[in-house]
Amino acid sequence: MGKIIIAIDGYSSCGKSTMAKQMAKSLNYIYIDTGAMYRAVTLFALRNGFLSKGELNQSELLDVLHTIDVAFKHNSTTNTSETFLNGKNVEEEIRGLEVSSHVSKIAQVKEVRAKMVDLQREMGKDRGLVMDGRDIGTVVFPNAELKIFMTADYKIRAQRRFDELQAKGDTITYEAVLDNINSRDMDDTSRTENPLIQADDAIVIDNSNITPEEQLQIALNHAHNKIA
Ligand code: C5P
Repeated sequence: MGKIIIAIDGYSSCGKSTMAKQMAKSLNYIYIDTGAMYRAVTLFALRNGFLSKGELNQSELLDVLHTIDVAFKHNSTTNTSETFLNGKNVEEEIRGLEVSSHVSKIAQVKEVRAKMVDLQREMGKDRGLVMDGRDIGTVVFPNAELKIFMTADYKIRAQRRFDELQAKGDTITYEAVLDNINSRDMDDTSRTENPLIQADDAIVIDNSNITPEEQLQIALNHAHNKIA
């Protein structure tokens, strides 16, 4: 039975990565979180002073873009994949609000996207992969056998994300999370380079009122049909 490519796109904080990870586990496929890659480049830009007060010094970033290495490594203790920036584990740091509030700026840069898309295609060359992001079914793998577009009511998404951050001990307010989600949705859908749009042949899953288990079952049924 041939291995397929599963592309999952959708709005911020609607549970794409949770579902993608579960699908990959169930199918024994590789999982790639492309948001983590843009987050890692954002962290690099912040650390090097290319992003300050919300402004990006694009030409300085582009001068050193070739030196940025983003990779994933499997952690056998936690059984998860972790993000590495130039050889250092940045998994925790890229999830914070500072990176979240700057990442859309970095994700708009054409050259950054081109580099990430090349890496993503390379990661998918052996197929058997679930990849989540914003442009996977439209740009990275337009011929993916299964495309899923995920969405949920923005307030529900903000509440889920807020609960998750609070559980980690983050002192952020619900309003700040809501603002971040709204502005990322706006930036992601309105940018010129590879905006977030639903592919014509994508299956839409709105998970506002379904459980994660129900959602996974729907997605896996589609995957099994395609694989068969
Ligand atoms: O998926 P996640 O929320 O971690 O992604 C972080 C940001 O990276 C998004 O808000 C979006 O701006 C950008 N992104 C993107 N294209 C992708 C994945 C993420 O532009 N394929």
